[in-house]
Amino acid sequence: MSDIDKPALTNAPQMYVHYCEEEGCEEWGGWGNSQSPAVPTRWWCFEHFPHKSYEQELALRRKIEAAERESVVR
Ligand SMILES: [Zn+2]
Repeated sequence: MSDIDKPALTNAPQMYVHYCEEEGCEEWGGWGNSQSPAVPTRWWCFEHFPHKSYEQELALRRKIEAAERESVVR
């Protein structure tokens, strides 16, 4: 028996629960943005995240278009 018994990691790491702040959207807000340390971070899902880069915007459009094509095929 060790006298340095580490507590078992039974609890998940503390996480702040935040969903997309877009009204009516129930997606997980995995994309945060804070203007400054004084401003609380705001969270959006990827689709509603207003600070996407051009490449991220393109990637999202391709994803949406692919999903639309798929629904047409079915
Ligand atoms: Zn959203």
